[in-house]
Amino acid sequence: MRSKVAVLECIHYDKDEIKEIILKGFEFIGGPDVKGKRVLLKPNLLMPAEPHYAVTTHPTIVEAVGEILLEFGAKEVLIGDSPGNALSNIDNLYRRTGMLSLAERKGFKLVNFSKEGIVEVENPNGIVPTIPLTKVVKTVDYIVNLPKLKTHNFTLITCAIKNMFGTIPGFNKSKFHSITPGPKEFSRLLVEIFRVVSPSLNIVDAIEGMEGDGPSGGTPRKFNRILMSYDGVAVDAIGGWLLGYKPSEIYTTKIAGDMGLGISLLDNIEIFGSKLEELWGTDVKKVSTVYNVLERISSPALSFLSKRLVKLIKIFPEVDDNRCIRCEICLRSCPKGAITRVNDRIEIDYKRCISCYCCHELCPQRAIRIKRNKLAEMLWLARD
Ligand code: SF4
Ligand code: SF4
Repeated sequence: MRSKVAVLECIHYDKDEIKEIILKGFEFIGGPDVKGKRVLLKPNLLMPAEPHYAVTTHPTIVEAVGEILLEFGAKEVLIGDSPGNALSNIDNLYRRTGMLSLAERKGFKLVNFSKEGIVEVENPNGIVPTIPLTKVVKTVDYIVNLPKLKTHNFTLITCAIKNMFGTIPGFNKSKFHSITPGPKEFSRLLVEIFRVVSPSLNIVDAIEGMEGDGPSGGTPRKFNRILMSYDGVAVDAIGGWLLGYKPSEIYTTKIAGDMGLGISLLDNIEIFGSKLEELWGTDVKKVSTVYNVLERISSPALSFLSKRLVKLIKIFPEVDDNRCIRCEICLRSCPKGAITRVNDRIEIDYKRCISCYCCHELCPQRAIRIKRNKLAEMLWLARD
């Protein structure tokens, strides 16, 4: 089996240009079957941040896709996401990310995933027996996954598969982090969520993504591409490649490929618009974690690294007091209750911390750094 991914050059966030490019992509992957359907656009709206921070899917892409789908005959276009911080004000999120103004201009409907209620969807042979999704995903006929291409400190990349985590509203996201403390288990759970939501189409905002300590604390980085595919696993394989990771290094891509949810092998992906060789993210800054480094160590070396030694590798969050404004978002978002406010300082209890980096991900001030101890630093330096 082979999958098609359109990898189209796009330099500006110009709506007409983007529409033209997306239509070209549809010529390759096939037009969307949306006639008479209610369509949900699911961008990545991790936190209330203006588009120039490159943390969230750019509103111009969302607008262009919505318009195209109406032209293809869609009955109604909805936009929705659930931010990482469960207590986030959704109106503020939609306003700052540019979704509110585009919805008002275009007549698209903004939905609040938490308010619409939850539906428990069966998850056969999964880590959890059921997955609590927003009811919205079950009331629409077609879901368009609109991720932003970014590095991610816990899962290495965030693209199509990871973006479906936002269909779980409220505090359930923290609960899931808590029951799957390691990146491998958590990635498996992400794949299971992706499987039950099963987006119909994936269009990735890789015009400007993020490198370094993403998904929010990294640096904006131009990739000048829009990726399109009906196969979310294949699009992640190419997205990861743009960030300088092979599909086998990214747990979500590999697990989803092994589960038969899509194509993760590059040899079986037909690319249109760019050559694979020119897409490799040679100089893209990697995340501070070293999980993929451990995976790449050959077996004899790995056996040398006894379990005890592996436990000595520490990659941990640290609060920068000078940047911190004591908003307590991290405190409310920590799945382990490891963060407290002591007088005027935010403190982390490292005995409780599971290094999920949610605090780093959601801090609006970038006041949480990822630190490595000496052993982790050595491995990180040796990663290539
Ligand atoms: S570290 Fe960040 S999220 Fe936590 S209180 Fe300080 S500014 Fe807020
Ligand atoms: S302190 Fe931060 S990294 Fe540690 S468990 Fe809490 S949210 Fe996760």
